[in-house]
Amino acid sequence: MKINIAIDGPSAAGKSTIAKKLAKELQYAYLDTGAMYRCVAYQALTSHLPLDNEEELLHMIPTLQMQFDIHNHVFLNGEDVTDAIRDNEVSMAASAISTHQKVREFLVHKQQCMAKDKGFVMDGRDIGTVVLKDAELKLYLIASVEERSNRRIKEYLSKGIQADYKSIYEDIIKRDFQDMNREVSPLRKADDAIEIDTSYMNVDEVVTYILELISKRKG
Ligand code: C5P
Repeated sequence: MKINIAIDGPSAAGKSTIAKKLAKELQYAYLDTGAMYRCVAYQALTSHLPLDNEEELLHMIPTLQMQFDIHNHVFLNGEDVTDAIRDNEVSMAASAISTHQKVREFLVHKQQCMAKDKGFVMDGRDIGTVVLKDAELKLYLIASVEERSNRRIKEYLSKGIQADYKSIYEDIIKRDFQDMNREVSPLRKADDAIEIDTSYMNVDEVVTYILELISKRKG
């Protein structure tokens, strides 16, 4: 029987890498909910909408067609925005627009509809606490800020993007603070989530550990 797996944690803790691999191993669907907030932020920046104007954002959101293909490419109104939404300016804007309650409600509803038949690995900030409260397995991934900054630098360099350690480090701290201290659905570990510190573990070790957790639960 298929289950839903919720993965939360701060930025660059390895959530999406682990979630993608896990979904592949289990032949489950994967949804990167952060990409949805990023699409909204990207469109707001492109359309020069003020990020603090919830009403204008709410007017725009229903016009957005977000699509995710099996190769984890993200399309916004038909345009491939997979790389564009990873930009640092979009990351900070996504964190800003995600503070709006009604913006969240709209996206959460979409996410819940997608996962209603189970067989989903979903990652984000509020999956275990709000979106999939009844997920059969909840994970909370963490890693030190230093390790997360190093990972981001590597990711940027692999894409040929210039990156500066100090500004990445500061942005991670700022985004953690914003995500953990907002009024609506702040990032926190669900009471029934299992915390995994990935600072000293590689991707395969984390995935193997999670697969063991799943087979123990099923057993
Ligand atoms: O996961 P990712 O870093 O791509 O998410 C970008 C931003 O979107 C996060 O910093 C957070 O503010 C917001 N987000 C959220 N809830 C989610 C997923 C992402 O608030 N479920």
